[in-house]
Amino acid sequence: MEEWVEQLQNSVNTLESLKSYINVTPEEEEAITTLNTKWGTTPYFVSLMDPDDPNCPIRMQVVPSLKEKENRYGIPNYLIWKENRDTDEVRPDSIARQYHDRIAFTVTDVCANYCRHCFRKELVVDRDLKLRMDVDEGIEWIREHEEIRDVLITGGDPFILSDDKIEYIIRKLREIDHLEMIRFGTRTPIVLPHRITEGLQKVLSPYHKIPIWINTQCNHAKEITDKTGKAVFDLLKCGVNVGNQAVLLKGINDDVESFRALHQKLLTVRIRPYYVFYCEPAPGMDHFRTPVEKGAELIRDAIRGHTTGLAQPMYVVATNIGKIPLIPDYYIMDKTDQEYTLKNYQGKLTKWPNIPE
Ligand code: SF4
Repeated sequence: MEEWVEQLQNSVNTLESLKSYINVTPEEEEAITTLNTKWGTTPYFVSLMDPDDPNCPIRMQVVPSLKEKENRYGIPNYLIWKENRDTDEVRPDSIARQYHDRIAFTVTDVCANYCRHCFRKELVVDRDLKLRMDVDEGIEWIREHEEIRDVLITGGDPFILSDDKIEYIIRKLREIDHLEMIRFGTRTPIVLPHRITEGLQKVLSPYHKIPIWINTQCNHAKEITDKTGKAVFDLLKCGVNVGNQAVLLKGINDDVESFRALHQKLLTVRIRPYYVFYCEPAPGMDHFRTPVEKGAELIRDAIRGHTTGLAQPMYVVATNIGKIPLIPDYYIMDKTDQEYTLKNYQGKLTKWPNIPE
């Protein structure tokens, strides 16, 4: 049996199995035994947890918390609102649309790791929302919509599917003339790097004019190991670039040191920081959310000028009308007809000529 399948079959998703890795606190135990929620992760990812610290950044993302019962700010039926599922346009359940030329194509609701902060938790974690994930129906819809040039294959985690199924989806999509690119959103390079097998590399690697891009999700430097580095290198050998889409999470990466360390360490394993998302208002995740400005402040205080420019992600609030980027607002301090006054990351000021149009 392949190691990645073994990892999934031995998923750590019971109190007993979790106790064999970490010292579960009474609060964690009560959450696990009383909350009606899907949870669990791979033996690999759980082995990266601090066994004695309930505030370990990996543990907080994986182990259910009683705080999930609090819901002051979450929007009910969040995914229906966020993914514009309640509109006049008739689409298969598998197709989520916020833009004219690109869509998200949901092909599974299964994950290797059930993130406590998942914005799709109503579908993936709580399972209150049932969607029909018919791959052929989705492909047919894409074929009929010539304005679609970019398909994001998502879930759940699409790399949980078999090599054959992934190969089928890619092949069918590449038969569609108007498609220009295929993207996968998968957390496997982080939570199950064993998934990047030779078999999967064969599926991904032949040269084709329609490229494949991958975005993964890593939220703390502690999640990155030598295995991550090898998996990403193998993906790059297939011509597949890997970007990161982190989520800004209170107590996990919302301080200058953790935020900078995360983005610096991503580059050491060849993952390009792409987005940092504000933690979305799905129900039951109030405890992970910061003020909205926080991400822009962290880019100002931890990244821009403080480290290599490649380490800089774009900070966005992902809404029902698309992603809204927020950037630090301190760069232009003053403007006259003659010149601008600009400020750098150290607070130093400089002048720059104002050129009329
Ligand atoms: S891997 Fe993605 S879809 Fe799955 S639980 Fe985590 S955030 Fe949600």
